[in-house]
Amino acid sequence: MITRRGMMCGVAAGGLTLALARFSLAGNRLDFSLPELPYAADGLEPFIDAETMSIHHGRHHKAYVDNLVKALTAEAPDWLNKPIEEVVVNYQQLPESIRTAVRNNGGGHYNHSLFWTMMAPAGHTGSPSDELQRAIEAAFENIDEFKKAFAAKAVGQFGSGWGWLVLDRDKKLSLVGTPNQDNPVTDGLIPLLGIDVWEHAYYLKYQNKRADYIQAWFNVINWNRVNELYSAAIS
Ligand code: MN
Repeated sequence: MITRRGMMCGVAAGGLTLALARFSLAGNRLDFSLPELPYAADGLEPFIDAETMSIHHGRHHKAYVDNLVKALTAEAPDWLNKPIEEVVVNYQQLPESIRTAVRNNGGGHYNHSLFWTMMAPAGHTGSPSDELQRAIEAAFENIDEFKKAFAAKAVGQFGSGWGWLVLDRDKKLSLVGTPNQDNPVTDGLIPLLGIDVWEHAYYLKYQNKRADYIQAWFNVINWNRVNELYSAAIS
């Protein structure tokens, strides 16, 4: 049965709904619970330390999930049956009393669920596929220039937020920053790679040296995952 709200969501999201259907997290429909890390908490050492990983995942991400579920349960329990992508895209249709909570915590849950899969331990990171490599060269000349531009975008994100490589509406690669837990998906862009630049992502090991964290993070990019997202996004 198609509800009025369901129809409204479909209209609002337009073609994006179809694009996102192919773009599931870790190959599974993301539900409203904390996903397991795809590696041990110390799996990204020495670049990302185990203590940061366990606090980031077990406390910060968990809080986003708990607060998202609490808000939706109170005011829009039917939304707990939607894919998280639709919640993130359509949050402005929610009652005003929970809109900000869902924007922040739904975005937090979505962003972090992606983020864990976009990193991998040494030996499991892979490298850009031929098609992704060509797209990177078309947009940034080469991988080193891409890293420079990506780092500049992430360093330049004022305060808390994220730096992203996305596929834009013209099916081209570009870089965007989002504040807080906002996500490119809400703006109709498809995230391919994202770095969390909230201080909770790096402060224990890198303190105020965000640029050093980003340089270290380049060593744990899960290119296999980025290839998969890129391939799904352009097909
Ligand atoms: Mn975070």
